[in-house]
Amino acid sequence: MSSIAHNIQVIKSQLPSSVRLVAVSKTKPAEAVLEAYNSGQRIFGENRVQEIVSKKEQLPGDIEWQMIGHLQSNKVKQLVPLVSMIQSVDSFRLLSVINAESQKINRITSCLLQVHIAAEETKTGFSPAELTEMLGSEEFDNLLNVRICGLMGMATFTDDHDQVRREFRFLANLFRDCKQRYFANTPSFTELSMGMSGDYQIAAEEGSTMVRIGSLIFGERLKK
Ligand SMILES: *Cc1c(COP(=O)(O)O)cnc(C)c1O
Repeated sequence: MSSIAHNIQVIKSQLPSSVRLVAVSKTKPAEAVLEAYNSGQRIFGENRVQEIVSKKEQLPGDIEWQMIGHLQSNKVKQLVPLVSMIQSVDSFRLLSVINAESQKINRITSCLLQVHIAAEETKTGFSPAELTEMLGSEEFDNLLNVRICGLMGMATFTDDHDQVRREFRFLANLFRDCKQRYFANTPSFTELSMGMSGDYQIAAEEGSTMVRIGSLIFGERLKK
C-alpha cells in the first residue's frame, strides 16, 4: 500500500464513518491525487482555480473538486462549472456572483458559508454578526442558484487544545442556531466543515461532518 493510501486509512480509522474526508491536495502533483484516488478517495480540496483547472484535465472525471480557499469574484465564472462545492464563501457579494454565474449555465452551486472563528485576523470569513445579518436579509432569499449546505471554519493555529475546542464548539452552536432560525425548511443545510491535520479529532468530537486534511495525507507543503 502507498503511504498516501496508508495515511488516509489511518485518518479514517480515527473518524466516525459519518464524517467525510476532503483530501486537501493544494500544491501537490496530480500523481499524488491519483494515489489517493486509487485508494478510494473521491473528494479533493484546492485553494486555487488554476490548479483545479489543470488537475481536472489530468485526472479521472468522477473526482469531486471543492474550493476551500479565498476566492476572487473575477474567478467565479471559471470555477463554477468545475466544482461540486465552494466551501469558502466569505461575503454576500461573492455569493451573489456565484449565484449569477450559476444561473447563466443553469446550475445550482453548493456552498458553505465560511465563518471567522480564529483569533488570527489574517483568516477570512463572516463574523457571526455579519452572517446572521445576511441570512435574515431579503437579498439573500433571492439567490436561487446557490444551495447553502452549511458552515465552514478554521480554528486558531495553536497548541492550546482548549482554545481550539472552544472555537469549534462555538461554530457548532452557531450552525445549530442558524439551522433552526434560517434553514428549518432547507434540508440541504447539514454540513459543518471543520478540522484540519492538526485538529481534526477535536473537530470530530465537536460535531464536524467534514474534515479537510492535507499535510497529514500528502506530507508537508513547501512554504510559498
Ligand atoms: C490548506 C487548508 C487545509 C488543510 O490544511 P492541513 O493542515 O495541511 O491539513 C484545510 N482547510 C483549508 C481552508 C486550507 O486552506
